[in-house]
Amino acid sequence: MNIGRNLSGVRCGDTTARFRLCCSSLRLSLFLFTLFSLMPASAMSQTDKSLDRAKAIIKAAPIIDGHNDLAWEIRTSKTAPFDVDAYDLRQTTPGHTDFARLAAGGIGGQFWSIYVPGEVKDSGYAKIQLEEFDIARRFIAKYPDKFTLALTAADIEAANKAGRIASLLGMEGGHAIENSLGALRMYYDLGARYMTLTHNVTLDWADAALDKPVHSGLTAFGREVVLEMNRLGMMVDLSHVSPGVMSDALDVTQSPVIFSHSSARALVDFPRNIPDSILARMPKNGGVVMVTFVPAFVSTEVMQWEKKAGDWKPVGVAETDTAAVKAQREEWLKANPSPKATLSQVADHIDHVKKVAGADHVGIGSDFDGIDTTPTGLEDVSTFPALFAELIRRGWSDEDLKKLARYNVLRVLKANEQVAAQLQKTKRPSVQTIQQLDGAAAQAVP
Ligand SMILES: [Zn+2]
Repeated sequence: MNIGRNLSGVRCGDTTARFRLCCSSLRLSLFLFTLFSLMPASAMSQTDKSLDRAKAIIKAAPIIDGHNDLAWEIRTSKTAPFDVDAYDLRQTTPGHTDFARLAAGGIGGQFWSIYVPGEVKDSGYAKIQLEEFDIARRFIAKYPDKFTLALTAADIEAANKAGRIASLLGMEGGHAIENSLGALRMYYDLGARYMTLTHNVTLDWADAALDKPVHSGLTAFGREVVLEMNRLGMMVDLSHVSPGVMSDALDVTQSPVIFSHSSARALVDFPRNIPDSILARMPKNGGVVMVTFVPAFVSTEVMQWEKKAGDWKPVGVAETDTAAVKAQREEWLKANPSPKATLSQVADHIDHVKKVAGADHVGIGSDFDGIDTTPTGLEDVSTFPALFAELIRRGWSDEDLKKLARYNVLRVLKANEQVAAQLQKTKRPSVQTIQQLDGAAAQAVP
């Protein structure tokens, strides 16, 4: 789930977006066909060799992807919202994810995002959050020959040994706990193994990357949330939070953290991306940065275009004249087509995180089904091998690629389990409240 969707005003599953995507794919195929026709035989076999090696590596170390919004995609399906049976993963789906493509992509584990928008005003967050758990738990249960709910690192290994995709749940974001540590504990019991501390809205206890910072990081209650997550063994996910929150969380956490879907700010100056000052702290913390494919986070050109598209206003017509506004918008889009992010740019971010944080602290967090457009070459969950082939051509070792695919995030999950087991020997569930820690006016954030 990303800001790009909001800025461009096009949701995942939108037929226009899909049509654009299909056209792009067709154009890409023609381009590649021409390219390969002109390519010397030696370069072509190099490409094939890299792809073969990538597939072998992924087979030996099936990918654990940090973020996929399939549950939201099903919830918001235009034809059958909430209907897990209608959204048949055994067939080709309209989104980015189905079984054939998961198999081609070499996915061994998936953190399914349990997302609730921070902008919801008409009900409590918990209701939507629980419905999202319900959707994910239902689609995992529907295919017992394909998916296994995984609650531990050992569950992931066991599921893969049995030929299943380990299905993990990750919450997005901390507003869903509605300032309650009791609610946090119940989400853990429902299966959540990470939680982004915020989504795009600043909370009573934490600043979001894309909202106004009002706390300069985490409040005292925010720090208590982190410690309670450590005690539970729920990974602290720092995607979506402000750099101040990243820094405060790294100061207070007793377990390694994750970024389930973020990229590098040194390459694209988007506020959702991670500054080098934070990447440099990952070795000491032991955590993992799972690099995302969100086009606006990966490409400066796309980021700038999305800003322009978001700022666009109709001229000379009333904003309530929806037909005229739509026609004008379509004209504008025709005259200002979106640039495309590329697989190579995603590889640049992975290289950068490796350079600054180290090969032990980088992973993959695609955000498939949470993005309305994709980088060229990374169109859906089947395309991971192409990304690994690119990294092979850039000189990555097999060992580092296996860490990137799987072993870094597995290590972090195991470490969180071990810290939790230790903490639970002496630490009782916290009954602190936001009023006790942050004062009586704590919930009055504008
Ligand atoms: Zn997100």
